Amino acid sequence: MSGTVVVVGSINVDVSVTVEALPRPGETLMAGSVRRSGGGKGANQAVAAARAGGACTLMVGCVGDDGDGADMRRSLTASGVDVRAVTTSLDEPTGTALITVDAAAENTIVVAAGANGVVRLDDVAREALAGADVVLAQLEIPQTVVLEAARARREGALLLLNAAPWAPLLPELLAEVDVLVVNEHEARGLTGHDDVDEAVETLLADVPAVLVTLGAAGSRLQRRGEDAVTVTTPRVTAVDTTGAGDTFCGVLGAALAAGEPERVALQRASAAASIAVERRGAQDAVPTADETTRRHD
Ligand code: ADP
Repeated sequence: MSGTVVVVGSINVDVSVTVEALPRPGETLMAGSVRRSGGGKGANQAVAAARAGGACTLMVGCVGDDGDGADMRRSLTASGVDVRAVTTSLDEPTGTALITVDAAAENTIVVAAGANGVVRLDDVAREALAGADVVLAQLEIPQTVVLEAARARREGALLLLNAAPWAPLLPELLAEVDVLVVNEHEARGLTGHDDVDEAVETLLADVPAVLVTLGAAGSRLQRRGEDAVTVTTPRVTAVDTTGAGDTFCGVLGAALAAGEPERVALQRASAAASIAVERRGAQDAVPTADETTRRHD
């Protein structure tokens, strides 16, 4: 392990039920099955970073003082994530996503942020940030906490901000960002431009680099005033694209923290994400370093 990536973000338990058809208002339905699994963009990206190997992965987040919180700590640890900077809220429950999927794979998702709304940086988190090579954050926790983490990072540490789910960004936070990572939907949402190229141009007024993920079309990194770096993704049969972006971000963060050249890091992230879309689930779908290497080479 040659570097450290600190992931600052959400930890949820995903409770998924399958039904024939999504319920209408006032309707009560019996589910075919119920499944609990680890979720939250922060935790998903931390798992992807840890499984990628190469760098130490530490998570900054918050869970409730409940069984779900204990389960999520255990499963993150089992994936190789250092959870010493995950705090426990005595007032808020562990964040929960209630997911209903119908026979046609349409879904509805309701998220109760719970403890994710009260994440704070403790001494362990500050120490880790002060030694980080890469800080990777998303927007399922308060932006003020992401800003605090950004400001606590080692001078020269890269801040990758995955603006998901998209929301207007604090100017002080934008000023800290080294690479803004967005999918096409988020790029449009942040700028109001339908055209992705125009959206990227607009975003480059505020941040020095924008990385847009383009689904099966791969990804493109654009630095202000430079030629774009375009990276293709392996052609696969997609089964479930949930968490593709999270796998991509986590693997990218770990590869950059480990000192991989940018293009190699992007290729590894694409290879890993292409494996994730071939499998169901979010954290369950994240490949190991060996699987990614086989796909990449
Ligand atoms: P999100 O999951 O945030 O919507 P994307 O759909 O852009 O993000 O996917 C992120 C990355 O996952 C892509 O850049 C690509 O590398 C990979 N990916 C996504 N969908 C596919 C696909 N159908 N085939 C191969 N790779 C994919």
